[in-house]
Amino acid sequence: MLSPIQRLLVESWFTILDLVAPLVCAGCGEIATRESPLVCTNCLAPPASLPRPLAVPIATDPGFDGPEWSDFDPAEGADATIVVVSGFPYDGPVGALIQSLKYQRLEPIGRHLGRALAAIVTKHALAAEEELDGAEEDPLKASILAITDEVSRVVPVPLHLSRKRDRGFNQSLLVAGGYASAHRLPPPSEALRRTRATRTQTDLDREQRWRNVGGVFEPIHPLPGERVLLIDDVVTTGATIGSAAIALREAGAEVVGAVTLAQSELRGGGAR
Ligand SMILES: [Zn+2]
Repeated sequence: MLSPIQRLLVESWFTILDLVAPLVCAGCGEIATRESPLVCTNCLAPPASLPRPLAVPIATDPGFDGPEWSDFDPAEGADATIVVVSGFPYDGPVGALIQSLKYQRLEPIGRHLGRALAAIVTKHALAAEEELDGAEEDPLKASILAITDEVSRVVPVPLHLSRKRDRGFNQSLLVAGGYASAHRLPPPSEALRRTRATRTQTDLDREQRWRNVGGVFEPIHPLPGERVLLIDDVVTTGATIGSAAIALREAGAEVVGAVTLAQSELRGGGAR
């Protein structure tokens, strides 16, 4: 415990620091508060319109290259379909926060983002529950509900070891930590590994993305009977999540769905 005089000294010190170099939110650049340094509450507030959940096909066929799909029925050549629920559009403050997390290595942001994502996923689930009430069976909405009701553990999409070594951490594991604590799930651990480094997906089209990450994941250990929720920072076409889901199924897990902080649009086309 600090004595009143010590506390006064500490408070004064922070006041001086605030005047000399105020902390700014890494998302919007506004002055942050001491209670919420690094990221302001505005940047983590749910967006006015939630990103549309995506239906991502899971395919073990190596020739599958993610053709267009329009509903929750498995696409041609796919074995199953999972839902991907996202918290924010990438084109906004959360995109800037993800960049800060990864490249300025602002690790504490990860947990804040994970908790904000958990709150938004709950909103998605409540909306799905309302729409399901009395309606005809809707597999997409039922899958969104399952994400909050039927998950036994969360698994982050892994980085390749060389990239993790460069960065020092896997940002998706940090986000998963915040998410799991908010939804009272066991702390996440890495359950998958990337078997090869892949080129950045930014400039690839849909088919190239599916080929780029096909077969790139493998389980670290078996996960029999686990009902897994995959967590990643950004989804665009769902190719990475689809590939990671295949590895989880190989480990004996049931993939309930996936959540991502942000949803990004494919250049020259829609988010899907
Ligand atoms: Zn902000």
